[in-house]
Amino acid sequence: MLPQDELWRFGGEIYVGDADGSTQYRDAFGRTSGAHEYLRRKKRATDLGPNDWCGCGSGHKFKRCCKDLPETDRPSWDVYGIRERNLMFCNAVDGILGLTAGKSWDDVRRELSDEQVKRIHEAFGSLWPEDTDLVELLPRPTKGAFRAVYLGTSDPRTVEATVLGWLPYFDEVVLAHPFTNPLCVKPEFSPTKSPSQYKAQTLKNVLMLLILEPYIRSGYVHLIPHPGDFNPHFGMSSLHMAKERTAGWKPAEGSVDLLKALAKDDHGRFLRQLPESSLRGLIREYKPEASDAEIDSVIAYMKSDLAADPYALLQPIVPGESGAQLLGFKGYNLEVAMYLAALTGSIIYTDLEAQWHQLHLHALQTDQAAAAAWVPVVESLRAVDFPIDGDPQTLREIRSDGRFGGMRAAMRLFAEAVRSGDRSRRDHIALQLTKAAQAMKGEWKNVPETLRHTGRVELSVPSGGFERNEVHRLLLTFGRAKSVHPIPFAMFIKFEEAVATHSQAAAC
Ligand SMILES: [Zn+2]
Repeated sequence: MLPQDELWRFGGEIYVGDADGSTQYRDAFGRTSGAHEYLRRKKRATDLGPNDWCGCGSGHKFKRCCKDLPETDRPSWDVYGIRERNLMFCNAVDGILGLTAGKSWDDVRRELSDEQVKRIHEAFGSLWPEDTDLVELLPRPTKGAFRAVYLGTSDPRTVEATVLGWLPYFDEVVLAHPFTNPLCVKPEFSPTKSPSQYKAQTLKNVLMLLILEPYIRSGYVHLIPHPGDFNPHFGMSSLHMAKERTAGWKPAEGSVDLLKALAKDDHGRFLRQLPESSLRGLIREYKPEASDAEIDSVIAYMKSDLAADPYALLQPIVPGESGAQLLGFKGYNLEVAMYLAALTGSIIYTDLEAQWHQLHLHALQTDQAAAAAWVPVVESLRAVDFPIDGDPQTLREIRSDGRFGGMRAAMRLFAEAVRSGDRSRRDHIALQLTKAAQAMKGEWKNVPETLRHTGRVELSVPSGGFERNEVHRLLLTFGRAKSVHPIPFAMFIKFEEAVATHSQAAAC
């Protein structure tokens, strides 16, 4: 109720109390979160020199970021950007879990509480409120960076093979944020209202955040939430599009094996977490002839595996539904990956055959045959062995030393040529790629060998790029219709050897 005698001082803010006890808030402009105040930069950068850090918070120098863009085309300099929000979130998580105060990862596995899960997700939600204008925060297309949106699942068990391992060859990667925003989730599935079921997933997500933090800081990885996580209208639209696209569709046999392997790995983890008495019963059922001593040693083996597993909680499982855990795979759907790629000037890459098929089935215009024009490049890239290093520390050093720059430069050159439709340079680019691959071999010899796989790239360059009417609709409704181009090409990455999702998947 407005005060009767003080209407003249009414500032336009509205508080609404509902009968169920919940409340809503609107400021004079209809904003709901108040985030425009706490996410506003304390001071807007002015008079920047070319070598100063850019005012958009990208972590890049001004000359390499916003300098040549007209002010209206830059990411916002007024509110905190994507990278800064992610770093704030890292700080918040470190603080909530006591990592800054010296707690170890094993401490976190042992002590992770409902309260901590709740606070972590409250922090996440407050950084990505309902009135977030994602488009004003996104990095802008630039010739200076070869950028790729990863169309796959964001998981700490695979992030080294699918994302970090490719950073010697790609300048930047856009990746789906693994955390669930409590904003658009029913209370019974919400990480803030029902946090205990999110413990296992939170542990995994935090580990992923810790692995990615240095790469976020350096501006190599853009961890961007699915826009539908905070914008319900966007969420409904993209969900509807994905449903229509996949109506009656079943992934081909073997095309989602990676996801199955991850789910199997999770299943094994839960088995190992069962109380000893339950395990004893299960083993007895499975192998009635086993002796007590044999069962004891199997249980001891499973428990020592559990102790060494960084993704497992070190807490007894609560029996019944109250101890149930909600696990999920988070990633972009095709429409959202294309939406983000169009706005950030990226290409798309995936390691999931199912997604690769969907991309070709639904994002090509009928008259777009495979572009014969780029065959030399496709073949020269197909011949390259990409060493995929499994050690984040090594990968970080490689990038900060500026090594493998030849391959990244060749990728930039190629993306630029496809975008501008300049096919005359195809042989030159194919040669550049082959040369860069040779130089790469020599460079890898000087990097201490850790766990290393061999990656391969299948390239697809349709003559008109990848396009989809539904994505245009998303761009018109929720984006900047100006300066949006089809996605020039896409890559399917695969590995010579099966990449173990976790050593224990095999043990199980
Ligand atoms: Zn900038």
